Amino acid sequence: MDFLRRMFGGGNRAPADNALHLYVRCSHCGTPVHVRIHVYNDLAVEYDDDTVAGYTLHKEIMDAKCFRLMHADLSFDRDRREQSRTIAGGEFISREEYERLMTTQPRQQ
Ligand SMILES: [Zn+2]
Repeated sequence: MDFLRRMFGGGNRAPADNALHLYVRCSHCGTPVHVRIHVYNDLAVEYDDDTVAGYTLHKEIMDAKCFRLMHADLSFDRDRREQSRTIAGGEFISREEYERLMTTQPRQQ
C-alpha cells in the first residue's frame, strides 16, 4: 500500500536539495547549458481523477550564444522520480560531458 506515501509525496525519494540538474547542449551551436529544476516548485501536477498521477515539467532553455530555444519535456511519477525526458532543439548530456565542454569551449566575454 503506497496510499500514505503518495499523500505525502514520497518524502525521502526526492533529491536532498530538491533540485534536479539538467545538462543540455544546443544542437545549433553546441553550447552546453546547465539548468537547475526545483522538483517541488517547478513541476506541474497531473491528476488522474482526484489523485495525483504524476508530474510533468516543460522547460524552455536558451543558451547564451545563439539564443535559440530548446524545449525540454520531462515526466515524473507521483514520487517525483523521473520517468522520461525528451528535448527539441538540443540534446541531453551528462554532467561530465557538460563540464568537459565548459572547459574546452572558449569563454564568451
Ligand atoms: Zn545555440
